[in-house]
Amino acid sequence: MSHCPFCKKKIAMSKAFCSRGCKENYFQLIAIQIPKLFMKRIFVFCSPAERELEIEQFASRHKWRLDLLKNKIEEEAIKLGYIEDTSTPIQY
Ligand SMILES: [Zn+2]
Repeated sequence: MSHCPFCKKKIAMSKAFCSRGCKENYFQLIAIQIPKLFMKRIFVFCSPAERELEIEQFASRHKWRLDLLKNKIEEEAIKLGYIEDTSTPIQY
């Protein structure tokens, strides 16, 4: 068994993704690039409400899906130490 790289669902070894949607989301997620300066600005200098607005503007400027962008920003923020990783580990 293998895992879908986007949603982590179990899939057959012969498949790369569980669905077309996951494949598209996965590649869009990879395409999203977030500058470190943007991360610093929204996490250090913005209030949560301002941050939300900045993220929305950033998504619409680049025509990225907001939910995917938010996921990516959260990932980056954990990596950069701006927020704590509160998600539960994946169960196998
Ligand atoms: Zn999937």
